[in-house]
Amino acid sequence: MKKLLILVLLFGTLQFVNTKPSVAQDRVAKAPEQKLGEGPYTQLIIRGVTLIDGTGAPPIGPVDIEVKGNRITKIQTVGYPGVAINAEGRPKLEANGKELNCEGMYLMPGFVDMHGHIGGSQAPFAEYVFKLWMAHGITTIREPSAGNGLDWVLDQKQKSAKNVIVAPRIHAYTAFGMGSKEKIVTAEQARAWVNENKAKGADGIKFFGASPVVMDAALRENKRLGLRSACHHAQMDVARWNVVKSAEAGLTSMEHWYGLPEALFTNQTIQDYPLDYNYQNEQHRFENAGGLWKQAAAPYSEKWNQVMNQLLKLDFTLDPTFNIYEASRDLHKARRAEWHEEYTLPQLWTYFQPNKRAHGSYWFNWGTEQEVEWKKNYQLWMTFVNEYKNRGGRVTTGSDSGFIFQTYGFAYVRELELLRECGFHPLEIIRSATLYGAQALGVEQDLGSVEVGKLADLVIIDQNPLANLQVLYGTGAVKLSDDNKVERVGGVKYTVKDGIVYDAKKLLADVKKIVADEKAKTGFVLKQPGME
Ligand SMILES: [Zn+2]
Repeated sequence: MKKLLILVLLFGTLQFVNTKPSVAQDRVAKAPEQKLGEGPYTQLIIRGVTLIDGTGAPPIGPVDIEVKGNRITKIQTVGYPGVAINAEGRPKLEANGKELNCEGMYLMPGFVDMHGHIGGSQAPFAEYVFKLWMAHGITTIREPSAGNGLDWVLDQKQKSAKNVIVAPRIHAYTAFGMGSKEKIVTAEQARAWVNENKAKGADGIKFFGASPVVMDAALRENKRLGLRSACHHAQMDVARWNVVKSAEAGLTSMEHWYGLPEALFTNQTIQDYPLDYNYQNEQHRFENAGGLWKQAAAPYSEKWNQVMNQLLKLDFTLDPTFNIYEASRDLHKARRAEWHEEYTLPQLWTYFQPNKRAHGSYWFNWGTEQEVEWKKNYQLWMTFVNEYKNRGGRVTTGSDSGFIFQTYGFAYVRELELLRECGFHPLEIIRSATLYGAQALGVEQDLGSVEVGKLADLVIIDQNPLANLQVLYGTGAVKLSDDNKVERVGGVKYTVKDGIVYDAKKLLADVKKIVADEKAKTGFVLKQPGME
């Protein structure tokens, strides 16, 4: 059931969620209580960094940053590049204060992963997922569906807030209908569930689609209550309820891309499904999705502009999760990513393999034809997302890891790279990953940029991430040294959350051990599909 539920979360329909309310809450082990980071300090001075503050401002340095407790209290420019820093005029270390010498390093706000499922049967340890996120600088996540149960997520959220577990800050968006004893079919039932969800302490709702009467009532009530929402517009309901309808009823963010091409149809009203199509056939589902954008209104056409401008007017957030579909256009790249050997759990690897019974494992016969179609699909999708950003729209970064050969943390960095491919400047990408994420969650007063008064959630790395986003991968980037040696550079050095400094490489070492221990239990050896 848990496996089914998780699958439903990514690809599914509302029926499961409504008719099978019981959730196996013991499938994913909660993170152990442990204190790995150092701090918070009465005074922490991070010295000599080049600051990328998340607002869109260019890098500046050297800068000293002072943190007291969990708040940023001072940001001071202390010199010029290429010349020694004059010690005069730098923030002074107080008794019991701590200095972190980060000269030559880059410092950014903590990253926000807007689409972070905390494991499932394919990743049954929250510690594994949390540490991969934290090791990649992700200090805030939105849990889109509360897949392990709302109480489970709220427990981890509270423990993260108290820093008794190593985990990002958590925003819990319950799958719509979860826990309901009956299928929600009326507006009254929808409103009642939405009120109950708020009373239970959820931060929002994740929708997958429903009848227009239910979607309309639930979205309006949720908005009236001041909560936020996300929606994966699944194919089973999208013909009667698309992204524009959701946005007009009060949805705050759309996930993935489904429901957007459908809002852009001018020559048809339904996706051009082949006549032998079956939604339960994963290859049908994903193969035909690859031809969807070309059925929508052409970029910059009247309809395309009209839909985009309507979404902009509603201050609507796009959370594209480009990475989670990347295997559709380049299966080999996703499948052979170098981090799988040491960082992908055996359960996760097994889950990724082709299987008619597993959602998202749709490569029954996936080759050149499907990949080329998907490459073209991406071009049209990316054109929309980039122009949405250019017209002032908010685009955020969500990974949706745990499916389709995408491993937690690593996949988030890939998402940043795919925004670069869209046409975003790296500074626009960092803003999407930080300030825009915080805005979309409604926490920009405290998070999302490096500014005095905000909480100290920071990412520190000894390479320039703007020059090559790949340095953010836990496995680093490849670089040839001046004396012709192949080296690995980068990987986040420190992740600071709530004023606590974590050694990101140490977190990765912990993850490596979790994976190695799991393999040792069963003698698991990672092999490519179909290889003996
Ligand atoms: Zn998802």
